Amino acid sequence: LPEQEAFDIEYWLLEEAKLQRMPKPKSLAGRIALVTGGAGGIGAATAARYLSEGACVVLADVDAKALEATRAQLEKQFGGDVVRSVVMDVTREEAVAQAFAAASVEFGGTDILVSNAGIASSAPVEKTSLALWNRNMEILSTGYFLVSREAFGLMRTQGLGGSIVFVASKNGLAASPNASAYCTAKASEIHLARCLALEGAEAGIRVNVVNPDAVLRGSKIWEGEWLEQRAATYGTDKEGLEEMYRNRSMLKRSVLPEDIAEACYFFAADTSAKSTGNILNVDAGNVQAFPR
Ligand code: NAD
Repeated sequence: LPEQEAFDIEYWLLEEAKLQRMPKPKSLAGRIALVTGGAGGIGAATAARYLSEGACVVLADVDAKALEATRAQLEKQFGGDVVRSVVMDVTREEAVAQAFAAASVEFGGTDILVSNAGIASSAPVEKTSLALWNRNMEILSTGYFLVSREAFGLMRTQGLGGSIVFVASKNGLAASPNASAYCTAKASEIHLARCLALEGAEAGIRVNVVNPDAVLRGSKIWEGEWLEQRAATYGTDKEGLEEMYRNRSMLKRSVLPEDIAEACYFFAADTSAKSTGNILNVDAGNVQAFPR
């Protein structure tokens, strides 16, 4: 090589090596996320994932005690400046408005909403009381509507677009035994996401859905009544249920809160800038397989 050219190449390689050593900017730096149901399970795992990418996070949940514990744990891990918590019931309009107002006061707005707060219930249709049906609709369907409506207003005013991620369920796509109220409410979340994706597109507000398969570990849902009812439906215990879900899946793997968090991260980050109205099943290949 001529001397100058060799020098140029060496110089370029040195510059490249320097760039490689420089810390990479975090992909959610400067973003503010509000995570409903952030006191534990999938919500807390998602909050941790966002924090690891430099976002500021507001955890919103109805369970004040669990919320406090999770906030303290995340603060220890990521620092006190980037995590806040607010007690909020997603079925109460004023509480929802107050949570978003808190995010504005603490961090200056909301760029990402993860609508995740939820319950699960199981009962044969003849034993599904109107109260149980309404509770599912109120927390899941109406709750997702209320938080999205608030986020939409705020994101439009901010004028910077935004990302809304719904944690729905594979049960919103496929029927599950003795869970008509839950499945119907989850299906309505998925259709609400499609409608909002269309409404928000012009303002750059993206709305996408993550559908978990059963996530038994780390989820409070799988500690109470739902566990008992599922165990009775399938005639097995918690370990047996986990094994059943794993064996049904194509990949023969259990789904963890961190797996759902990763999908929620994808839809929040700019790598998914051209995805809206989409559904991502995180199910180890369960939904698309015939029972085997
Ligand atoms: P979880 O019980 O650990 O977390 C849910 C959180 O929502 C709890 O902290 C709870 O206090 C909160 N919450 C409940 N009602 C609320 C209300 N009215 N207002 C505010 N917060 C409320 O369960 P998880 O597994 O982390 O569930 C998160 C979401 O994932 C839920 O929407 C659930 O339906 C969905 N999901 C879970 C599974 C699973 O197997 N774990 C599967 C599919 C979908």
